Amino acid sequence: MHPTPFDHMQRAVDVVNNSEHPQNKIAATIAGEDFDGSHYSVVHTNFWPEIIKGRIGPDTRIGNASGTIHAETACILKSPCTEGASIFVTDPICPNCAKNIAEAGIRNVYIDHKGFEKDFLTRRREFFEHMSLAICEKAGINVYEIRRREERITPILETAANRAVHIETPVELQEAHSSFVDFIAKQERLREDTPFAIGFGHERAKDRTIALIAPTHPVAGLSSRLDSDLLARPDGKYSYIMEPVNRLLMNAARLGIRLDHNHLYSSRLPTAREQVNLIGADVHRLHVGNLHDARDLSAYEAMRLLESKRVLAFEALEDVTT
Ligand SMILES: [Zn+2]
Repeated sequence: MHPTPFDHMQRAVDVVNNSEHPQNKIAATIAGEDFDGSHYSVVHTNFWPEIIKGRIGPDTRIGNASGTIHAETACILKSPCTEGASIFVTDPICPNCAKNIAEAGIRNVYIDHKGFEKDFLTRRREFFEHMSLAICEKAGINVYEIRRREERITPILETAANRAVHIETPVELQEAHSSFVDFIAKQERLREDTPFAIGFGHERAKDRTIALIAPTHPVAGLSSRLDSDLLARPDGKYSYIMEPVNRLLMNAARLGIRLDHNHLYSSRLPTAREQVNLIGADVHRLHVGNLHDARDLSAYEAMRLLESKRVLAFEALEDVTT
C-alpha cells in the first residue's frame, strides 16, 4: 500500500527530536518520483554538517548565516529528483526554504498543525504569512495544514493546477563537450555582468555528462519588471532574489543531476548562506571567477572563516585543472 500524506508527516514527526538544535527542532519528509518512475522518500531534521560542528562549532556565525541547514533544504539536497514532489514539514516554512522549495520544483507543502501551535516568535509567523506564502503562491505551490490524528487536510493556499509559472531566467543544461576551463571562459564572455554558477554533473535520466548553468534571478513566479517594488525592498534578512549557487544546488536536485563536486563554479563569491548550503551538500571546493566581488561583506567574513578552518576551499579560475 502507498504511504499516505499522514504517513509521510508521521515519519518527520518520528525523527524531529533527533534534531541537535536546542530550541528549534524541525524535521521534514520529501516524497517524490525519480526519473524512472520509482517512488522515494527522504526524511531529515535540521542539522549542523559534521565538518562545521567539528572545526567551527555549532554556535559560531558564519558571516551572517548560522551553521545549520534547515530540514526542508536538507531533504532537497538529499533527494534524487524533486520535480513535482511533495514536502511534509513539522513547522511553518521560512522564506529561504520557500525559495528553495520553489526552485526545486516541489508542488505541495504540508505543515503539521502542531507547528502552528508552537510558541514560535511572532516575527517568524509574520515571515511565514507574508513572505513564504507569497513565494508559494507566485511559484504555483499548494500549502496544506495536516492533522494526523483526525486524518484531516486543510488547504492554506491552493493554486490552479498546471498554471504557467513565470521563470524569468531559466537554468540551462548544455552538453559538456569542452574542458571545464574552456566552458567557463566562454560563459564568462557571454554573460558579463549577471552573476551565475555552473556545475558539471551526471544527468541520471539521460546518463550523460552535462553542464548546469544557473544565473541569479527573481524567485520563481516573480518578474523584475512587474514585481520591481518587491524586489527592491527585501523583507528584513530575506530577499526575493534567488542566488546562483543556491539555484544550482536546488535545480540539480530538481532535475536529478548528480553534481561533480570538483567542477563547481561561481562567477563571484557566493553569499554566506550559499557557502553553508554548499557544505550541507558535502561540497568542499569551489572555483570562483572573481574573489573580490560578492553581494555583501558577510560573504567575505564567511569565506575567511571557512578557509582558515579548511572547511571550504575557494580557488581562482586560473588554478583550475581539468
Ligand atoms: Zn527554513
